[in-house]
Amino acid sequence: MDSISLKALAKINIGLDVTGIREDGYHEVRMIMQTVNLFDKVTITRTTDGSITMSTNLKFLPVNDDNLCIKAAKLLIEEFGIKEGVHIDLEKHIPVAAGMAGGSTDAAAVLFGVNKIFNLKLSKTALMERGVKIGADVPYCIMRGTALAEGIGEVLSPLPPMIKCSVLIAKPGISVSTKQVYDSLDACFDNVTHPDIDGLIDDIKAEDLQSLCSHMGNVLEEVTIPLHPVIADIKKCMMDNGAVGSMMSGSGPTVFGFFDDNRKAKAAKEALTASGMVKQLYLTTIFNNKI
Ligand code: ATP
Repeated sequence: MDSISLKALAKINIGLDVTGIREDGYHEVRMIMQTVNLFDKVTITRTTDGSITMSTNLKFLPVNDDNLCIKAAKLLIEEFGIKEGVHIDLEKHIPVAAGMAGGSTDAAAVLFGVNKIFNLKLSKTALMERGVKIGADVPYCIMRGTALAEGIGEVLSPLPPMIKCSVLIAKPGISVSTKQVYDSLDACFDNVTHPDIDGLIDDIKAEDLQSLCSHMGNVLEEVTIPLHPVIADIKKCMMDNGAVGSMMSGSGPTVFGFFDDNRKAKAAKEALTASGMVKQLYLTTIFNNKI
């Protein structure tokens, strides 16, 4: 095999809680992760000269060791002493720096693809063990589906598949600094309201979308929304247009809405387009491993 094309799927958080701050500064989390059918296209081509290079449609992204795709390819190629190289072409659609694990899912796809191209025969678990060296979200991006993530996000427990529904994803034209969000959270940590993650797990098991939406919560909204009120405006627009629930993903600024009727989701998409509040807008669906 000389070339492979893969879909690197984005994630949203149905629930996100921060339960503590470790001595090394990392945050202990409890998050419900969900893969959605919004993806980057990652094409990996084997080269004979031993170089590891990449190209991408987004000119502002790094194409050197700072890109998680290059990190992922190097990790396997160096570990296995492979003499050949790869060229990675990244067609980016997932909003960047937006709480959707875009870089992590690209890295996961590269690990998967390099494993296949060079016939390394690494199991999914073996790839996940290596992925965590690149980033805490990478093991989840290899696993995909519905999962509870604990620790710093790398301790994963699979959950039953999330209820199928339409998912509207909206990213405003602002950038959020993840570091600033977590620093602000640290400053008010004793006073934040923690979402009911166990209640959400029960809702997933009961396949009850209404109840799930009533329990959805992201502790980081409490600090991100005051910094960027447009996030609350986008949530309101989704709810006004028939979303069953709407929430910010990760540290933001991306907002998603769940709809039990695709016509309402389309109407909400039109309303958001007309509002001028969003820069990237996608109507997609829940991705489940177990179909
Ligand atoms: P998370 O949900 O894990 O917080 P994110 O959506 O906030 O992730 P990414 O889209 O992964 O963030 O990108 C964050 C930064 O990582 C970007 O500013 C970018 O420069 C860098 N980066 C490195 N590799 C990639 C990649 N393959 N795709 C996107 N960004 C990348």
